[in-house]
Amino acid sequence: MQLLDGKKAAQTIRDELKLDVAQLAIEGKKVPHLVAILVGNNPASETYVSAKVKACEEVGFKSTLVRIEKDEDERTLLDQISDFNNDPDVDGILVQLPLPKQISPENVINAIDPSKDVDGFHPESIGRMVQGHPTFIPATPYGIMLMLEHYKIETKGMHAIVVGRSNIVGRPISILLNNNNSPGNCTVTVCHSQTKNMKEICLQGDLIVAAMGRPGFITKDMVKDGAVVIDVGITRVEDATRKTGFRLRGDVDFENVADKCSWITPVPGGVGPMTIAALLKNTYRSCLMKN
Ligand code: NAP
Repeated sequence: MQLLDGKKAAQTIRDELKLDVAQLAIEGKKVPHLVAILVGNNPASETYVSAKVKACEEVGFKSTLVRIEKDEDERTLLDQISDFNNDPDVDGILVQLPLPKQISPENVINAIDPSKDVDGFHPESIGRMVQGHPTFIPATPYGIMLMLEHYKIETKGMHAIVVGRSNIVGRPISILLNNNNSPGNCTVTVCHSQTKNMKEICLQGDLIVAAMGRPGFITKDMVKDGAVVIDVGITRVEDATRKTGFRLRGDVDFENVADKCSWITPVPGGVGPMTIAALLKNTYRSCLMKN
């Protein structure tokens, strides 16, 4: 078994971006600027946003963190987005999800200028991705593709099983793996909560992407020998031995599954860091398009 080490792969991407950004500065060009908007103070969202801001600093991007009170109405957020859409200095706008219930995520996503949609959730970005055209790809699926590329995993002809069909992970990764690209060119089966015979389907997988949010769901008896396993799940589970009182657990029963795999991602340290690296790449791309 070999580890798909997201920390290492993401570091390589950040190192490359750092050089690219330094070059922009040498040429007197604008450096990428990411705006992150956080509504409320959900602890997991706080962690994700601060990791994104820190990553921007590391590679030399400009970043702006905007905080909005959790009781604010949708209009306030839409007005902020509109200001950033019109600001030529801003290359990427991300609104950290989930949002408080008085705000429609759909309205918010649709309000972001597609040319600054570095999270890749706008219908225009998704449509272009489905058609196989260049666009901003949602960060987590893009991070998975970058990881497969980094470790030179040949996916052509594989039967990929994607467990989960959310708009931010399951559905887009199923499309990317199916596209006529490298990585890609898989035959893809997508499973969800109503799927029957999950075990039999997963056992057919040369590649399994688990994106459910059900800790330890994918067990040893569901994975065939030599499979590549990508664990997207991140759930906080109680752990009294930790100072925080919790630890992060993936959707795969890593301890028992790992030995059967050719490659497997750890949690944490797998898909998580790649997601942030992918966001940085999208922001850099956006900046180049405007420079
Ligand atoms: P989500 O929107 O809740 O979607 C979960 C998907 O899993 C749904 O399609 C659901 O099916 C399916 N599912 C749930 N229980 C199932 C079961 N028992 N059997 C088969 N399918 C089942 O979640 P998400 O936003 O995609 O996130 C999934 C996980 O990835 C979460 O743990 C999240 O924290 C993590 N995540 C990690 C990153 C990262 O950077 N590493 C980024 C994003 C998300 P239905 O459609 O039928 O309900």
